[in-house]
Amino acid sequence: MTQQHSAEFAYLVEGYHRFRQTGWARRRERWEQLSVSQEPKVMVIACSDSRVDPAQIFDVDPGEIFVVRNVAALVPPFETSPGLHGVSAALEFAVQVLKVKEIVVMGHGMCGGCKAALTQSLHGAPRGEGGFIADWIAMLSEAREPVAAEFGTEGRTAERAMEQAGVKVSLANLRTFPCVRRGEREGSLTLRGAFFAISDGVLHVLDEASGDFAPVA
Ligand SMILES: [Zn+2]
Repeated sequence: MTQQHSAEFAYLVEGYHRFRQTGWARRRERWEQLSVSQEPKVMVIACSDSRVDPAQIFDVDPGEIFVVRNVAALVPPFETSPGLHGVSAALEFAVQVLKVKEIVVMGHGMCGGCKAALTQSLHGAPRGEGGFIADWIAMLSEAREPVAAEFGTEGRTAERAMEQAGVKVSLANLRTFPCVRRGEREGSLTLRGAFFAISDGVLHVLDEASGDFAPVA
């Protein structure tokens, strides 16, 4: 009996068959190596947004980057309270086990999570069924204030400022993790802020000294 797929899943299966015929076959040797271990040198923290796939943007092969994606590419601060800390677990694994040398936080243009943080009164916003989004983007509350004061809460300039401020929040929170601070101090780990502008496909990199993002050379 043939299994019936939804149109959406059938579309994915079609892609999978193309991958098996071309992508997988072409890199078969690479996959064989990868079946033994992974040794990515870079961790990328990016948004779940369907338009900003780090592997596509950086044109890397399987096994090259260790990726965490979530709403607005956010890293929560180091917390020892009980809870399910998914980003922290991935971070710990990347830094302490895989020993990545670089962590790239990549924000992006037209980010829905950042826009919600900017435009909603976070306390008065509808909480949704679980309130998960509101709680998550509340991480941007503090960073929102200077952005809103300078640029208002609407329009591309304000949105971009919020998106870029979000990257800085994640970098600051990364530095609350002892293993990250130690890595930076010892020179074994570098943090990098980046921003991918969807409209023109240009990657910007943060200069932490000036706080400005500029197109990457
Ligand atoms: Zn986003």
